[in-house]
Amino acid sequence: MRNATVIAHALFVVSLVSCTSSPETKPTAAAFELQAFASRFEPGAMVGAPRLVDCTLSEGHTTTCVSVTLPANPATFEMGPWCPAHIADGADRGGIWPHDGRMHDVDGLFIKNLPTFYNDSTWQLYDPQTGVVNVTDTPEACAAAARPDVDPRYHNYCVQCLASYITSGLTNTYVIPTQPVAASRVAPRVGHDGVGIAYRGVRLDAPAPVDDILSAHTLAPFDDCGGHVNPAVGYHIHAVTNCIQKDTAETGHGTAIGVALDGYALHSRLDAGSPLAVDVDACGGHTTGVEGYHYHVGDAGSNAILGCHKGQVGCVLDDPNASCDASALQRPNGPPGRRPQGRASAEHPAMTGQAGYTTHRRAGPMHALPPLD
Ligand SMILES: [Zn+2]
Ligand SMILES: [Zn+2]
Repeated sequence: MRNATVIAHALFVVSLVSCTSSPETKPTAAAFELQAFASRFEPGAMVGAPRLVDCTLSEGHTTTCVSVTLPANPATFEMGPWCPAHIADGADRGGIWPHDGRMHDVDGLFIKNLPTFYNDSTWQLYDPQTGVVNVTDTPEACAAAARPDVDPRYHNYCVQCLASYITSGLTNTYVIPTQPVAASRVAPRVGHDGVGIAYRGVRLDAPAPVDDILSAHTLAPFDDCGGHVNPAVGYHIHAVTNCIQKDTAETGHGTAIGVALDGYALHSRLDAGSPLAVDVDACGGHTTGVEGYHYHVGDAGSNAILGCHKGQVGCVLDDPNASCDASALQRPNGPPGRRPQGRASAEHPAMTGQAGYTTHRRAGPMHALPPLD
């Protein structure tokens, strides 16, 4: 897979060349680059084909980006399960949940033991008479429980939203620089547009706001692929498991599993014992002779796929044809093409975190730089 990585980097260089060369040569170079880029994705992962677009990155750098549209309800994943229905259910009926740096199976016993697990007797996520777990099992319940001001009826609930709740045809378009540009100010953590995208065809997201979720005595488990659904962006991943990263045994340095929103390659995680693991920076990246600067995703239990973006990020758009000006996030009127406030009541940007969904809210005009959660 090392060769594949080299190809990926070469492609980005080609695309840089393509935007500075004569107009006659651009279509050929661009078509070749896009085709090879597209081939890295799982078949059927994308809506349409990726294309090259002009873009303005987060610090105002104007460049060429690749625009990739992914379905909010990816056919390339079998989603769930998330919440077990009964405290007698085994791990095959539930998802996973991070705590203290590692993942725990959310089986019936986990639900039953929550007061002990979190040393908080307020936890009562099931009916003590029947053993039935409190699960948000309708779109209305999902929306009410995911609201920033959690409907009190859904305190002490296992929160899950099914793929069937996703609006038909909902997509997210990722506009990513073909040639990364270093940021002059590296933010302390990944912003609300998330980490980037996996070649399996899914959004890799910022950390789930676990503290906020727990404060309402709710859980929002991930499935075994590390993902769950919210009505605004659909299925998204908070933890890279073996579902996303292929077996690295044959690859040596780690398979390239996707691309970050700043254009740097995302590789599978490094074994903690690897000499390479010690030299990654706070964002999770390092530079090697063959790969250049690239990231390695964090351990699944860390609730952080990346620590931060080293480069200027592009955009995540609701409208695939909208233009990307990521620097407009810094300006009062906000960028075009972003989901307006109110489309997803579960993710009202004015409110602070709740139930695992606020990391995915779209920044609205009045909340250009929402508090990070
Ligand atoms: Zn590396
Ligand atoms: Zn989430």
